[in-house]
Amino acid sequence: MPRSFSSPDLLARSLSAVWHPCTQMKHHETLPLVPVARGEGLWLYDPEGRRYLDAISSWWVNLFGHCNPRINAALRDQLETLEHVMLAGFTHEPAVQLAERLSALTGGALGHCFFASDGASATEIALKMSHHAWRNLGQPDKTVFLCLEGSYHGETLGALSVTDVAIFRDAYAPLVRDVRTVPSPDSRRAGPGESAVDVARRAAAGLESALKAEGGRVAALIVEPLVQCATGFAMHDPEYLRLARKLCDQYGAHLICDEIAVGFGRTGTFFAHEQAAIRPDFLCLSKGISGGYLPLSVVLSTDAIYQTFYDDATSRAFLHSHSYTGNPLACRAALATLDIFETDDVLAANRERAATLSCYLEPLRDDPRVRHFRQRGMIWAFDVVDAPSDFARRFFTQGLARELLLRPIGNTVYLMPPYALDDASSRFLAEGVADVLAVVI
Ligand SMILES: *Cc1c(COP(=O)(O)O)cnc(C)c1O
Repeated sequence: MPRSFSSPDLLARSLSAVWHPCTQMKHHETLPLVPVARGEGLWLYDPEGRRYLDAISSWWVNLFGHCNPRINAALRDQLETLEHVMLAGFTHEPAVQLAERLSALTGGALGHCFFASDGASATEIALKMSHHAWRNLGQPDKTVFLCLEGSYHGETLGALSVTDVAIFRDAYAPLVRDVRTVPSPDSRRAGPGESAVDVARRAAAGLESALKAEGGRVAALIVEPLVQCATGFAMHDPEYLRLARKLCDQYGAHLICDEIAVGFGRTGTFFAHEQAAIRPDFLCLSKGISGGYLPLSVVLSTDAIYQTFYDDATSRAFLHSHSYTGNPLACRAALATLDIFETDDVLAANRERAATLSCYLEPLRDDPRVRHFRQRGMIWAFDVVDAPSDFARRFFTQGLARELLLRPIGNTVYLMPPYALDDASSRFLAEGVADVLAVVI
């Protein structure tokens, strides 16, 4: 492999050749890029050996640490067997096994698995499938999608249309479909004497008004169950999902659960929607699905939906594809990920991990600079009072100085560490967060 001679050289080459994602490149005139040479477990190392604890799982994808020996071994084996084959007209063991195992994890409720490459394309697929299923059922007028205030479902044009985050959406507003936004059940909206359940019920009433107003034209409601991550880790009570499920049934709309960020144990259960004891019509998965190794996403759907496409007519089929659909390497990484969940009883181990880190974070709850300290499963977040406008960048920079990779969203600090945290690293992380807060505020 051609190597860069030093970090400064690599950074200069990166800035002249690479257009980095989600970045105003000019900011890198003052904010240095972080070169990463290798990863091991919770830690990322730069070429000079400086290390950073990856407390946000590299944009929420990593589950069991970097360079996980078991996923590495599975990938090496797959690499010697089959690297890729098209999935139209062909099939292979990793894709079949992954589809079977994911379906089993929904209790068989979602019997079919459509493969894609990233989260945004999973959203595109769910939206298209929903409308097409209604069309196949003779209801082509169902063309409206409902999304929550502050929702994030990806940044391609279709996904962006159901994304309610101004910074991602505003520049492209003329290009995206008009959709209807319904109230977020964000628990922080509780008024005096109100509980999270009250907020959920109020938001559900808003959902019902929208369904009524659209008079049967709603194809689907899309939600991020339990935690709206990208908008600043807004958490809600499962009651909202129960009510949303009921209302979608009542008004003849699909329920799409986007568990791209919250699936795979993030919220404490394997899928977040399990905490409401409901099943969606569509389930979008990505990010943690491959343990953070390779781009992969899937959309699971009910057999009833699948059957609406099953016909002699090609026009009734779901004619959607991506070149790398069902890539065997990515599927194999996903199978190794599911194996680890089973053999290590990860959900039980995470309950211990969560309790340990929560314990170390306890002093922050009562910190006067902290508001709305919240946690669900392996996700922690809090808002910082009177944060300066450059808070997120300063926190990030000071975090690096404390060997922590943290990227606040606005004034919200969040932790979403890999499921590899132990007592010592939990303590290191919690103390680091407190120290960084003291420096920045
Ligand atoms: C990250 C994310 C997406 C988009 O996934 P990409 O792989 O980045 O396209 C969609 N929905 C949610 C909830 C996400 O967190």
